[in-house]
Amino acid sequence: MPSRPTVPSSLAPAATRAPLIWTNTLLFSLTFLAAATLVPWYGLTHGFSASAWVLFGVFLAANEMSITAGYHRLWAHRTYEAHWSLRLLFMIFGSMALQNTAWAWCSGHRRHHLHVDDFDRDPYSAQRGFWFSHIGWMVREYPSGQEDFSNIPDLRRDRILAFQHRHYVPLVLVTNFGLPLLAGWLMGDVWGAFLLAGVLRLLLSHHFTFFINSLAHMWGERPYTDENTARDNPVLAVLTFGEGYHNFHHIFAHDYRNGVRWWQWDPTKWLIASLQVVGLTRRLKRTPVFQIQRALLSMQFTRAQRKLASLPAIAPASRVSELRQRVAHEYDTFLAAVAEWAKVKEQWLEEKKRAVIEHWEHASFQQRLKELERSLRLQRRRLRILQAQLA
Ligand SMILES: [Zn+2]
Ligand SMILES: [Zn+2]
Repeated sequence: MPSRPTVPSSLAPAATRAPLIWTNTLLFSLTFLAAATLVPWYGLTHGFSASAWVLFGVFLAANEMSITAGYHRLWAHRTYEAHWSLRLLFMIFGSMALQNTAWAWCSGHRRHHLHVDDFDRDPYSAQRGFWFSHIGWMVREYPSGQEDFSNIPDLRRDRILAFQHRHYVPLVLVTNFGLPLLAGWLMGDVWGAFLLAGVLRLLLSHHFTFFINSLAHMWGERPYTDENTARDNPVLAVLTFGEGYHNFHHIFAHDYRNGVRWWQWDPTKWLIASLQVVGLTRRLKRTPVFQIQRALLSMQFTRAQRKLASLPAIAPASRVSELRQRVAHEYDTFLAAVAEWAKVKEQWLEEKKRAVIEHWEHASFQQRLKELERSLRLQRRRLRILQAQLA
């Protein structure tokens, strides 16, 4: 196993730094400079047409959704299946987003999930700081960023993605220059369309996505697990079409939703679910409600135990022991419910395997599982009240 460097490479002296990747450095610097100077200058001197703004919005949404619904939830995690026409669109607008080919993106992302936070093996480990996880990992040839496609055999069989990988540069040029210029010419505002829907759109779609690797591992809540740095953050969810619920995503990566509650802002999940109605997506994977409740409760117990352990020494001993007993009792109830759920699920699967399950039996199994889900929900409520007393 490679030994962990004592000094993070991003902080090491320049002489020992990994070599710079000039193409990426120029790309990120030039788009930033152009967006910071040419866009406001043109806006102030010539003004942008309404149609250029609409085009900017459409391309930004198409780029971000192709990354979130296409690269991320379809290809990297296989959370659903999609019709070839939809995959083609994701490939075209994903190329326009200029975040590398789907093969490179997904293989890096699968490594990120497998080795999350590992200094040497997570390609964009948040442990190496904001700059590295946001953009630094792409501008130098770090060993953690070495391309290795051994973890994407399924994607290498996809002909649309193989085509993208072979013709990536022409695809990038046509979509980034050709599409905004052509649309601008048709609208009679070539430069306005190019600066807004070409330059500004690229800069924003880049950094909004990069926030997931940086900020979504640093800023927000951890309601489902604290075993990694991923956070749930509704502000980032708005900027990233739903990817801000990153704590949920890291524990249940095979779920097509990131914002699992119906009210959580996740347009990507709404897109995937609504395209199912017209047959463009199918086999959407969902995490069973019980497993979600179990994760939430486990975290609540962990926090309650920590609070109990840190109660001030002046707290009356009888009060502490009463609270401890109540938490212990709730924990036993929780473990019993988890064991019962596993048993019912196993029986159900066993019966299904033997193909002897009747319709009424199926309904009764579902009913028992639903009751267990409900019991965990009620327990979470009781634990919240208990935690308030611990505060
Ligand atoms: Zn992550
Ligand atoms: Zn992911």
